[in-house]
Amino acid sequence: MPLYRTHDCAALRPDDIDKTATLSGWVNSRRDHGGVIFIDLRDREGMTQVVFRPEENADAATAAHALRGEDVVRVTGRVAARLPGTENPKLATGAIEMVAAQLDVLSKADVPPFPIDEEIANEDLRLQYRYLDLRAGRMARNLRLRHKLTKAIRDYLDGAGYLEIETPILSKSTPEGARDFLVPSRLSPGAFYALPQAPQQYKQLLMVGGIERYFQIARCFRDEDLRADRQPEFTQVDVEASFVSTEEIQSLVEGMLAQVFRAARGIEIPTPFPRLTYAEAMGRYGSDKPDRRFGMELTDLSEVFARSEFKVFRGALDTGGVVKAINAKGFAGITTGQIEELTQMAKLYGAKGLAFIKVENGEWKSPIVKFFTDEEKAALREKMAMEEGDLVLFGADKWETTCEVLGRIRLRVAEILKLTNQSAALEFLWVVDFPLLAFSAEDGKWNAVHHPFTRPLEEDMPLLESGEYGKVRAQAYDVVLNGVELGGGSMRIHERDLQAKMFGVLGVGEEEQTVMFGHLLRALGFGAPPHGGVALGLDRLTMLVCGAESIRDVIAFPKNNRGIDLMTQSPSEVDFKQLRELYIQSAVKK
Ligand code: ASP
Repeated sequence: MPLYRTHDCAALRPDDIDKTATLSGWVNSRRDHGGVIFIDLRDREGMTQVVFRPEENADAATAAHALRGEDVVRVTGRVAARLPGTENPKLATGAIEMVAAQLDVLSKADVPPFPIDEEIANEDLRLQYRYLDLRAGRMARNLRLRHKLTKAIRDYLDGAGYLEIETPILSKSTPEGARDFLVPSRLSPGAFYALPQAPQQYKQLLMVGGIERYFQIARCFRDEDLRADRQPEFTQVDVEASFVSTEEIQSLVEGMLAQVFRAARGIEIPTPFPRLTYAEAMGRYGSDKPDRRFGMELTDLSEVFARSEFKVFRGALDTGGVVKAINAKGFAGITTGQIEELTQMAKLYGAKGLAFIKVENGEWKSPIVKFFTDEEKAALREKMAMEEGDLVLFGADKWETTCEVLGRIRLRVAEILKLTNQSAALEFLWVVDFPLLAFSAEDGKWNAVHHPFTRPLEEDMPLLESGEYGKVRAQAYDVVLNGVELGGGSMRIHERDLQAKMFGVLGVGEEEQTVMFGHLLRALGFGAPPHGGVALGLDRLTMLVCGAESIRDVIAFPKNNRGIDLMTQSPSEVDFKQLRELYIQSAVKK
């Protein structure tokens, strides 16, 4: 068998004219011009036009006549200039064509369920025939970019002295947030492994093991109800280091992201990123991952309305809440339908309603203005910089509710007004000083906001002692890009007693601690270095770098939004015998 290719399908140029070359690839298209057959031959790199002339080689031309889209062929021939006027400037090889002397059909193709080179909308079909979808330009481009980006990350972390270490996929189930995927053990009847939600405990144990600087491109598994654009398995860039400060981890991540954007997009991003505390982020943007490509900040009006007669404001302020507003500049023309939509949204996030003022023809149009004094109106106009055409939207409730509601409204208004689409800006920032604990009314107990290994701020340790759990801040940080959380991490608890105390606060009793976290507590007793780390979502990062619309577009074989792999039809039923070996009985009735 002679060789398959001397060049790839994007390589030949006018310099190669009169040379003999061999190409292999897929038939992208075939055109019959009165017995002369043209095919566009495609491989990973690009496309070359091949022409079969009956007068030059009758056999090859006859064989070419029978070619169909996606047949796999090898062609040997002479490189020739295209006839003047038939060049294709859109193709890298558009100035030349190959005049075929020999054609070998390596593999015949069935009629594909969709045209390969078209961006078809039916994603289910694309996922079912994913291998065909991967041949299309978009997916091929995205996977290539993902490779580049991952390589940039590996090179960067290697350069900084980080060791890439694999941690187990068959690991231990611990209650840490999401639901585990369980794997029954045949050798330990009745016992289960869990797939890791993240390598969190292992990476901390690596620090106790003296590894000092670890990273992993780690697959993580969470059995959650799939909200939009989530996958049951996803990839994190997982990092942990000993003897480091928060600032050192943050600048490591900044350098890494700068390297990624340089390598994958040729863009220089400014570092260091701005830092906002959680309280500021919530207070000003109503979000712990604020999108700062546009303003429309939340303004506190509690002082303006301190003596308000308006029942709704009065009620909020008297019960320790706040009054806040955003100014949607130029949105006075909002339709009744849109107001209704925003009001429903406000209610969904806990507000009782959504008060507003439209500034139209020099007048304030609003059902609530009649409750305001002239003084209040003047102060409001000034504070909100109200002008003709503006729409001011109010929230009055507990601080958290008000911030959250206006934060959601702010994002929706920005979407309606297309404030984000116009801007290609990359707004990176750190959100820091998250609360350590949050009380869950549903569970009737305190839960960790990040995870139970997160270190409290040193200055807030006394609050932990005195039981003022809601006020304790964490040494935790999230990195945000354009309103998307790219990742997060924290300094960890490295003292056994403090870790045990934290488990206690979270309602994990002593016995349970030994069963579930005995390995970690024991390890912390053998000389644990101070340590901390971070994890970044690689799929989401790649999506943003590629400009893709869904994380499925940057994953070779994703599940659909019902957690199903449409190509292999998994999950699937298994043989009764397999179950018996695992001591498992299915309770699902057929
Ligand atoms: N393991 C954490 C997570 O997956 C990140 C970290 O704290 O490093 O969210």
